[in-house]
Amino acid sequence: MRIDRLYLEGFRNYAAQSVEFDPGCNVILGENAQGKTNLLEAVQYLSCAHSARAKNDRELISFQAGAGVLSGEVFTRERTFTLRAELYREKRRKLWVNKVPAKTAAELSQVLQTVFFCPEDLLLIREGAAARRKFLDAALCQLRPRYAAALAAYRRAYAHKTRILRDHEEQPSLLELLPEFNERLVQSGAVIIRYRAQFVERLAQYAAANHADCSGGKETLSVSYQTVSSVTDPLADPAEVAARLREHMASHRTAELASRLCLSGPHKDDLRVEIDGRDAKSFSSQGQTRTAALSLKLAEREIYQNVTGEAPVLLLDDVLSELDPRRQEFVLNRIAGGQVLITCCEDDRLPRLLGGRVLRVENGSLRPS
Ligand code: ATP
Ligand code: MG
Repeated sequence: MRIDRLYLEGFRNYAAQSVEFDPGCNVILGENAQGKTNLLEAVQYLSCAHSARAKNDRELISFQAGAGVLSGEVFTRERTFTLRAELYREKRRKLWVNKVPAKTAAELSQVLQTVFFCPEDLLLIREGAAARRKFLDAALCQLRPRYAAALAAYRRAYAHKTRILRDHEEQPSLLELLPEFNERLVQSGAVIIRYRAQFVERLAQYAAANHADCSGGKETLSVSYQTVSSVTDPLADPAEVAARLREHMASHRTAELASRLCLSGPHKDDLRVEIDGRDAKSFSSQGQTRTAALSLKLAEREIYQNVTGEAPVLLLDDVLSELDPRRQEFVLNRIAGGQVLITCCEDDRLPRLLGGRVLRVENGSLRPS
């Protein structure tokens, strides 16, 4: 799959810009604060109606503009699709696939998939569990429309339950609603857990192979999924997983009411990452955690390719300059065979190394060079 054309209007520091991409490698070159990351962010947005670094859609609209427009031409499954998103300050964004309004972000993901890789991802292992859940969610939302729906349902129920737990002492009648939201959390939670478990099973396999390669066979990486303790088999059928979740939630009822917090559910999931049998988060060197994170991100791309039969568009933001030559070479070997958009600073030696089309960005304006 590839993105051939992109048009932006009122998006971040782009007033109005259209750009054509090479089907292979595209190097986006520019000084700091010119719009390199913004360009990758726009492509990511067209793949999932979400930006990993923006808190909300309003942030994405140019300071001077009332609305933002993103439009892209994508070639996949032997045909061309047009994706469009309009962002507004006062109302919810609108999406289109081939001029037909799209109800959900998943409809965009069925056309365009991206894997975004930025320097913060190199810390994926060191950070708290939230970062690893975000990684799982971002990957699965693009890959599985049903996962995106279950996650949205879970988040809605979680927000309701949080309000009930927070306010029940002042308003005891709220507790009558608790069973209903608990059941919604159990149902959507069971779907989430099964998808995560299936994904991590593959992730573990590919990431281990990548890590072995990148470390020259010297280290073994193992990745496992950690979820609610009562769910002994997260790959069991959803009714079984739901029953275990219900059990766990019931046993935490008193504690949840006392602490006024949701204590039970997959919103506390994590990935356990070990190198040579030891917890990577606590014991690994900086180089080892980087290699492990790199292996996970590249595994994400391999899984997409395996599931959909097409390589997702790879968005590499400033990552290579953060890696030593050996790891750079490892990434460069792995990214062949699909479309890549990669940002670099002016003085980098990488553009020469990479070949492909070079686009220069200066103050929100792009030109081929
Ligand atoms: P670096 O090399 O430092 O990573 P970059 O080229 O990746 O730089 P971007 O993150 O793309 O830079 O940001 C470019 C500029 O866009 C910044 O100066 C930022 O202030 C500006 N910017 C961010 N959001 C908006 C917005 N909503 N409207 C207008 N400009 C914005
Ligand atoms: Mg940047």
